[in-house]
Amino acid sequence: MKISGKVNGTAEWIILTGDSVFAGLNEFLSKNFSDPGHIFILVDENTKQFCLPVLLSNKPCLQHSIILETKSGEQSKSPETLFYLWNSLIEKHADRHSLLINLGGGVISDLGGFLASTFKRGISFINIPTTLMSQTDAAIGGKTGINLGNIKNQVGTFYNPKGVFIFDDFLKTLPFKEIRSGFAEILKTALVADKALWEKIRNISFTDYFADLQYGSCLKELIYQSVMIKNDIVQKDFYEVNDRKKLNFGHTFGHALESLSMGKPGKELSHGNAVALGIIPESFLSFRYSGLHEEEMQSIVSMILRNYEYFFIGEEDKERVFEFILQDKKNKEGGIFFVLLEQTGKAVINQQLSRQQIMEAISFYQQLKAIQIRDENDYDR
Ligand code: NAD
Repeated sequence: MKISGKVNGTAEWIILTGDSVFAGLNEFLSKNFSDPGHIFILVDENTKQFCLPVLLSNKPCLQHSIILETKSGEQSKSPETLFYLWNSLIEKHADRHSLLINLGGGVISDLGGFLASTFKRGISFINIPTTLMSQTDAAIGGKTGINLGNIKNQVGTFYNPKGVFIFDDFLKTLPFKEIRSGFAEILKTALVADKALWEKIRNISFTDYFADLQYGSCLKELIYQSVMIKNDIVQKDFYEVNDRKKLNFGHTFGHALESLSMGKPGKELSHGNAVALGIIPESFLSFRYSGLHEEEMQSIVSMILRNYEYFFIGEEDKERVFEFILQDKKNKEGGIFFVLLEQTGKAVINQQLSRQQIMEAISFYQQLKAIQIRDENDYDR
């Protein structure tokens, strides 16, 4: 599949998926970057081990690229890592014509995208996403950023990659928990924009998908659908003034839970797990205030409890969750704004809610601890 286009008539981009992705990458690089100065490839230790050799063997001319390495994990989306990478680019004589290739998951594409957008007022970059999360969501759409302390994505830019090259075979080395994490953004995309996709995945077994992954590319179609939906929304509203906001469903609570968990060593939630859990209270609010049917809410909640690790919010943490929610970027003029569902497959943006309503949703979430129905043994896979 090949999608190409322009954002506001300026930045051109291309998204390629499927078997011919490396041939497409070759063509793209020779057409657009025949003399790019230096090429840099940003990796973490896992993508260096599992993905870099595949990329270099398929694209030998990248053998002479300069490798920039950072530690895997959310902690790398930090000002400190960014300083280190800015300095590395300077030391290695990057110039305005240099090209950055982000080879990794959403941490690498968020961090590398921000690095590219700020270095010398912006250099070109491409994303080669290697996790389900980044292939279906993070690598597409040009949102870049880093965290400030435990608060997610507080500093960032809208800056589109010149290209996104999705090679789904990279997923074969991903651990099960990362596949599950990536599914959360597919769930969200389905819930806000595509009822048929939700119906297709609501009874899915992640374990079966994971087993099949070793034999073939069973996720190809879901990746394709998610990319198409996201790309369509982003094209119409690149700077997230209107419709693009709906892609944040689950994220107001999700980011708050993720931030809370970052302060509890050993209990850190992956982004996807946090978003999945965030969908629970936001579905409850949708049922109470924006017309989602109770049965639909229940089917969403039970799907998530079946598949994701529950993270308990103790009474002592309720206020902190609320404070993290106050930091959400959708808020304005002191009001707290949510994306809610009117029905599965249809979201409504700019829903202002009060502290009391939010606290009610936290209480709803808290009482689910008693009915968690997942198999505990699944957690460590
Ligand atoms: P991640 O980048 O931390 O990757 C997860 C883990 O998988 C890491 O340990 C990584 O080293 C490893 N890994 C990556 N590819 C691998 C492979 N092929 N084989 C084996 N291991 C591999 O996490 P993620 O879930 O990809 O991304 C989460 C981040 O994405 C969050 O910071 C989130 O905020 C961001 N995000 C951004 C957007 C956006 O639009 N910008 C959208 C969604 C998520």
